[in-house]
Amino acid sequence: MGLRVYNTLGNKIEDFAPVNEKKVGFYGCGPTVYNYAHIGNLRAYVFQDTLARLLHFLGYPVTHVMNITDIGHLSGDADDGEDKMVKTAKERGQSVLEIADFYTQAFFKDTERLNIRRPDVVCKATDHVADMIELIKRIEANGHTYSAGGNLYFDIMTFPHYGELASINLEDLKAGARIEVDENKRNPHDFVLWFTKSKFENQALVWDSPWGKGYPGWHIECSAMSMKYLGEQFDIHTGGIDHIRIHHTNEIAQSEGATGKKWVKYWLHNEFLVMNKGKMSKSSGDFITLDKVIEAGYAPLDYRFLLLGGHYRSQLTFSWEAMDTAKNARKNLEQRIANLLTDADTLPTLPAEGITAAAASSMLGTEAARRYLANFTQALEEDISTPRALSVVQQAVKDKELPVPELLTLLGIFDTVLGLDLIDEAQALHSDAAITDNKEEIERLVAERTEAKKKKDFKRADAIRDELKAKGIALEDTANGTIWRKM
Ligand code: AMP
Ligand code: ZN
Repeated sequence: MGLRVYNTLGNKIEDFAPVNEKKVGFYGCGPTVYNYAHIGNLRAYVFQDTLARLLHFLGYPVTHVMNITDIGHLSGDADDGEDKMVKTAKERGQSVLEIADFYTQAFFKDTERLNIRRPDVVCKATDHVADMIELIKRIEANGHTYSAGGNLYFDIMTFPHYGELASINLEDLKAGARIEVDENKRNPHDFVLWFTKSKFENQALVWDSPWGKGYPGWHIECSAMSMKYLGEQFDIHTGGIDHIRIHHTNEIAQSEGATGKKWVKYWLHNEFLVMNKGKMSKSSGDFITLDKVIEAGYAPLDYRFLLLGGHYRSQLTFSWEAMDTAKNARKNLEQRIANLLTDADTLPTLPAEGITAAAASSMLGTEAARRYLANFTQALEEDISTPRALSVVQQAVKDKELPVPELLTLLGIFDTVLGLDLIDEAQALHSDAAITDNKEEIERLVAERTEAKKKKDFKRADAIRDELKAKGIALEDTANGTIWRKM
């Protein structure tokens, strides 16, 4: 069938056909590192990760690029408010770079716990200001800019397709001045490419440029960095739906204003995670982090499971009840897999990370297993339907007809896309159960080893240590005797 995705540009489902058949270029907007990511933000990154995993699975060589915004993002996306990074740095009495480093590390700690693979390229805005200046020069040379009040602006009226992504009509924009009025702007929707003078005179980080000492606007960083690593035309760009109207609309105007060519082919946007009481906002500080989820007694993968249970284009309401449901459903699934492990004598060969669906199919020996794989693949090919893919997993795991080793291999294949550690988590449950069942035996062996040591039969003592190790039990000799624990 082939992958089909919902393209925000055009608002319809389309067949996915890469610009360059041999390689997929994929850019996902990354975090602004002035605070912890909240679980809403993390939905955007679980989505990016699922998409990158799926593209690999479908056999596309992918270059996945993600930026780290460490400069230029104002609290309002349309050039209003204060620079988010500078504000936090001031409040904390630290430098912008210290703040950026701290929250970048916190971000990757969260993404790792959620099994989000690191993109192939992670690029920081502050390392790419020269690229942004070069791009702005091209936009300027093509007549899309004007200077006012010391800043360089993009003039949206020079770009006839402006607003297409968000289905905004340029004529409508001419009429209304609905957003904060920056007196320098010819049109309220014009946006800053380069700031020199602005509301904050003593900006900590400034660079020399043809327009004076200053710093770049937020939107230009994504245009410059994506084109640097993926070329002037590439396949996929993602972000949350909040970015459609301003950030991505402006990215398109800049990029296409510079090159004169169509820039990104497919725009994919994830819907929001919302709270019962409304929006979760990073800038207000009132939000739930992954740490809070863990403190409340859930595993990060419970949250990943919750997210995969919803379609990325549907709004998801977060609640602790929903977390309980996800946690229990995941536990039940893992218990079923743990039971399969008990039934299987040995663990069958599991697929390597990054296996393709085609290669995976040849690992399967039965027609029935191949059919599950086909259903799973088809669900994901139809606009990345993770809920349907998960229901295929649930059906397969309950299928008594499938040979157990075959089923385990199949689950291993599914997991290369789902990233739920299905087999590892079940193994942990399985060895917990094995330990609980064998407590007496373990203690008998520990006592026998203590006796052997007393008799200086070190060979026997070592053999017992090895035997327990193979069962996942570590021994520690202390002054008060030997204690054992699960490895
Ligand atoms: P930021 O760090 O604020 O630039 O946001 C990082 C990513 O999270 C962007 O792709 C946003 O569109 C996305 N995002 C922000 N809030 C939410 C939310 N509540 N649910 C889902 N995605 C969100
Ligand atoms: Zn961006």
